[in-house]
Amino acid sequence: MDARHTRDRERVDAFRDDFRASHVRPGYRWRRHVAAVLLYCVATIGFALAQIDSWSAWYLLAALCAYVFANLTEYAVHRLLMHRVRWPFEFLYRRHSGEHHRFFTREFMEVDSLGDLPAVIFPAKVSLFFVCGVGGPAAILVGWRTTSDIGWLFLATVVAYYLSYELLHLGAHLPEQTRWGGARVVRWVRAHHATHHDPKRMRHEAFNITVPLWDSILGTAATPEESGKGDTPDERGPVDGEG
Ligand SMILES: [Zn+2]
Ligand SMILES: [Zn+2]
Repeated sequence: MDARHTRDRERVDAFRDDFRASHVRPGYRWRRHVAAVLLYCVATIGFALAQIDSWSAWYLLAALCAYVFANLTEYAVHRLLMHRVRWPFEFLYRRHSGEHHRFFTREFMEVDSLGDLPAVIFPAKVSLFFVCGVGGPAAILVGWRTTSDIGWLFLATVVAYYLSYELLHLGAHLPEQTRWGGARVVRWVRAHHATHHDPKRMRHEAFNITVPLWDSILGTAATPEESGKGDTPDERGPVDGEG
C-alpha cells in the first residue's frame, strides 16, 4: 500500500466520520430504511397494475418506451443537476457531488457497514416524493394523452425502474463478498459505476447507473483506464468544501 493510497484512505475516512456525525441519526436502522423504500415502490407498482382493465401486446411497447424514458431521466438528472450547480437544485449537487462522491471514490467503493446506507439510498421520504410527486403527475399526463391503462402501466414501469436503480446502486457499494454485492448483474453495474466514481471522470463519463443506454447514445460511456475524457491535470477531484 503506497503513501498516496494511505493518504486517500485517510481523507475518505475523515469525510465518512463527518458525514455520519451530521447525517446519520442515532438509532438509524438500515432495515427500516430499505423496507420503507421497498414498501412505497412495491405498493405503488401493485396498485398501478391492478388498475389496468385490459391487456394488449402493444403494452409491451408502451412499457419499453417508459423504460427508455426513465433511463434518460436517470442520465439527465445525474449529468445536468447532480454534477452541475443549477438553481433551484443546488441540494442535489451538494448531496451527490459534495457527499456521495466524497464518501465513495473509485478506490473505496464499499460501505464500511450497513449503517452507511444513508450515503447510498435516498431517504425514504425523498423516495415517496419521487414516486408520488414525480411519477404520479407524469403518469397522469401520459394517461391523459393516451389511455388510462397506459398511464397506469407507465407509473408501474417508472417506479419499477426507480426501485431497480436503488437496489443496483446499493449493490455497487456493497462488498463483493456479500450475496447481493457479488451478484453477476451487480458486478456488471459496479464496473461502469466505479469508473464514474473516479474524481477525474465523474463529470464526463458513465452517468447511467443501471443500463448505460444513454451513455452509449450520447458518447459518455465508461472508457478504459488510460483514456478517460477528463483525465487532464487541471481536473478537480470531489468538491472540497461542499457537503
Ligand atoms: Zn455511487
Ligand atoms: Zn455522479
